[in-house]
Amino acid sequence: MPHPFTLLGQSEAQLSEWMVQQGQPRYRGKQLHDWLYHKAVRSLDEITVFPKSWREEIAQQSINLGRSEIHYRQPTPDGTVKYLLKLSDGAIVETVGIPSSQRLTVCVSSQVGCPMACDFCATGKGGFDRNLAKHEIIDQVLTVQADMQRRVSHLVFMGMGEPLLNTDNLVGAIAVLNQDVGIGQRMMTISTVGIPNQILKLAEHRLQATLAVSLHAPNQQLRQSLIPSADRYPIATLLKDCREYVQITGRRISFEYTLLAGVNDSPSQALELAGLIKGWQSHVNLIPYNPIQDGTYERPSPRVVQAFADVLANANITVSVRRTRGLEAQAACGQLRGTHKLSS
Ligand code: SAH
Repeated sequence: MPHPFTLLGQSEAQLSEWMVQQGQPRYRGKQLHDWLYHKAVRSLDEITVFPKSWREEIAQQSINLGRSEIHYRQPTPDGTVKYLLKLSDGAIVETVGIPSSQRLTVCVSSQVGCPMACDFCATGKGGFDRNLAKHEIIDQVLTVQADMQRRVSHLVFMGMGEPLLNTDNLVGAIAVLNQDVGIGQRMMTISTVGIPNQILKLAEHRLQATLAVSLHAPNQQLRQSLIPSADRYPIATLLKDCREYVQITGRRISFEYTLLAGVNDSPSQALELAGLIKGWQSHVNLIPYNPIQDGTYERPSPRVVQAFADVLANANITVSVRRTRGLEAQAACGQLRGTHKLSS
């Protein structure tokens, strides 16, 4: 979908150029940059360093800053806040702010909905609407930063959508979030289910961000039954592309593995997984399944999760288990939109 010229997402040089086009001094571009990215203004009228007469004049032109509206905000006792953001066309996306003592992590969406239709994922069950524009990705981070009144230090592209189906806007947004908002690329994680050719396309950008690949199964047959798109991207090809990604970027890859009771959580499957990625210097992040509405899967017990992790650790694979935060306990990612989309 084409977007009109939007201020959010432009560099300082581009904003300065725009200011000159508006008949303003070039240095006002630097001021605009600062107020857009660091003061997170939602309208030019808030930028009090600009002359009032010009602000009044420009108000007639309905300049698009590219900010969303907070449609719904759901806090939890552990401090996590889940947002539904309303975009300029009325589409709704989820964004989550996850604080800890040292960090504020934002879980960022890359699409409205998702076309991948993974069987255990609430977003996948909800269908696909469209890709997010670059500024709509950046906006999520600024919105959480302003609302939680704390600097965002980490980003995980694990919200709605498949980031590598929107690689250009993703990479463009990462550049701005890094250079203009000031978040280190090494503090960013891009999570992908794997899209043919896109992992290598991403590698060309030589990002310092971590790539996390959603594996979820130790063999092709099982993976295909959980992830419909996997039939067009055999696990052997996916892993070959991952190896090449590591070679090109010099960065490690981590693998995500959602544990579904009785489906992919046995010790023998852990052993099979270990065999698949042995000698990789990779990291496995185990995600105990978060139940979704009308879902057919169950979450394995902590004992089963630990046993799975132990098999990997014994095979010298570094492994972590993702802690369930308050909101996930109430509603797995992607579910809030389903329940609140049509209200208000
Ligand atoms: N499209 C990206 C991002 C998805 S969300 C990807 O596929 O990687 C981040 C992770 O959470 C993915 O590994 C995804 O498969 C997993 N996930 C989705 N729904 C889940 C659920 N209900 N329980 C546990 N993990 C889930």
